[in-house]
Amino acid sequence: MTAPLPAGSTIGIIGGGQLGRMLAMAAARLGYRTIVLEPQADCPAAQVANHQIVGAYDDAVALRELARRCDVVTYEFENVPVNAAQVLAETVAVLPPPRALDVSQDRLTEKTFLNGIGLRTADFRAVEADEDLGAALRDFKGLGILKTRRMGYDGKGQRVFRNASPDEASGVFKAMGGVPLILESFVSFEREISVIAARGSGGALCAYDPAENVHRDGILHTSTVPAGVGLGVAAAAKQAAFAILQALDYVGVIGVEFFVLADGSLLVNEIAPRVHNSGHWTEAACTISQFEQHVRAVAGLPLGLAARHSDCVMENLIGDEVQRAAQLAHEPNLMLHLYGKAEARPGRKMGHFTRLGPLTEA
Ligand code: AMP
Repeated sequence: MTAPLPAGSTIGIIGGGQLGRMLAMAAARLGYRTIVLEPQADCPAAQVANHQIVGAYDDAVALRELARRCDVVTYEFENVPVNAAQVLAETVAVLPPPRALDVSQDRLTEKTFLNGIGLRTADFRAVEADEDLGAALRDFKGLGILKTRRMGYDGKGQRVFRNASPDEASGVFKAMGGVPLILESFVSFEREISVIAARGSGGALCAYDPAENVHRDGILHTSTVPAGVGLGVAAAAKQAAFAILQALDYVGVIGVEFFVLADGSLLVNEIAPRVHNSGHWTEAACTISQFEQHVRAVAGLPLGLAARHSDCVMENLIGDEVQRAAQLAHEPNLMLHLYGKAEARPGRKMGHFTRLGPLTEA
């Protein structure tokens, strides 16, 4: 176990979005300074951090400056170039470890890793040509979701096949950009849940209660806690998250998304090696939020409790929905969080709110 970083130390954050903003706020509360690396000036994170290095995530000069000025470096999105993280790690601690980026950036690597540690996922086939897709559609009886292996999020870069004959594969590989793809079997899940879990620098583990997630147009709409899955399923989801954390020798917070099947069994959909949108509720319903938990872990402090004091529903404010903020502020038991983004473009996450209610059983 590394010695805890003393207050006044500096934490570097790669990525300047709302997740970086909330990490910087949590770090400040624990007495740390933050430096954000992000190409876009005046980004949401930089508005609340001590300093921004305006530069690309793989800019060698910017990375050297970040390494020189920080005591530890973390990140707020999973598409940080692995090479950049590895170069940084030669001179400064990078947490979570760069291997977590490597595993989570490619859906094929990710599923192979998950299956390798005994966790179930949707069936999948690598697709590198129309012929692969045709064969995979045959295997999955015409029903599946085709996804880009890399750089997909919020349902982007995906195509659904229903009752598709193998002939329908013709021309698809090129139409999807000619990049490596994966066909996943279509899972008829009962609901989607996620678990936010953390591993401290000494190996301690903790997990928040699962949230039930509802998506709209591929973007998270609400996260509801308790998720209504029962104690057995909740415990299994937490155990799966712990297995992932341990296998990656991880330090920090991770988000793990699951499909819950009708018989209560779980398939892992994907992992995010960072704080997660479906964990925003923790800032309102727990003493220690996912953001503070992450800062504690990467700074070598003890983890805090992941228990919750309230039931809650978190809802994202997307695009123009941010105009609801003034009205929502009238509700006395509602935590509102806006991200400081000037322009409310369609599909852009502008803020979120969490409505609290009395604590009930999971
Ligand atoms: P993803 O970008 O992989 O998280 O997918 C976005 C959303 O698409 C998920 O939250 C699910 O609602 C749905 N989805 C993704 N993969 C599958 C699958 N294999 N079967 C059924 N639905 C899926």
